[in-house]
Amino acid sequence: MEQTVVETYSPEETFVFARSLAEQAKGGEVFCLDGDLGVGKTVFAQGFGAGLGITEPMASPTFTILKEYHAGRLALYHFDVYRIGSEDEMEEVGFYDLVGQPEGVSLIEWSRLIEGILPKDAIRVTIEKEPEKGFDYRRITMNS
Ligand code: ADP
Ligand code: MG
Repeated sequence: MEQTVVETYSPEETFVFARSLAEQAKGGEVFCLDGDLGVGKTVFAQGFGAGLGITEPMASPTFTILKEYHAGRLALYHFDVYRIGSEDEMEEVGFYDLVGQPEGVSLIEWSRLIEGILPKDAIRVTIEKEPEKGFDYRRITMNS
């Protein structure tokens, strides 16, 4: 297990960090994004999308659970499972068909709500604030 900790001081820095991860992605990766509401999970997803070459605007797919993007170097499956009632609902969303597919990368906001069905080799990304360090400070901890 490898841990990387990155501290950012603006949304742009978080965007650029995620963009660089996307540039190195090979396909099949699953990034689990956790942290409180408004911490920057979607900013991370937007940076990641940019790194794959996706130019269309990206928002949290809170109501649809999944939004797919196919215009980039790899497909991007962007999940936001905040409103999911139970892990059973993930099957109809297409979770098992898409997650881990070698032609795409999955990002899962609020992944801890579906902890029981996450792939064992998923990359865990936790974003945290620390108010003493300023309003725009974020600590991004990545375990892979
Ligand atoms: P989430 O998806 O986790 O609910 P969003 O990505 O939608 O959160 O929102 C994060 C908010 O925090 C945005 O308004 C963004 O501009 C702001 N922000 C401030 N500093 C940072 C930072 N260092 N990294 C990411 N977002 C930041
Ligand atoms: Mg979000």
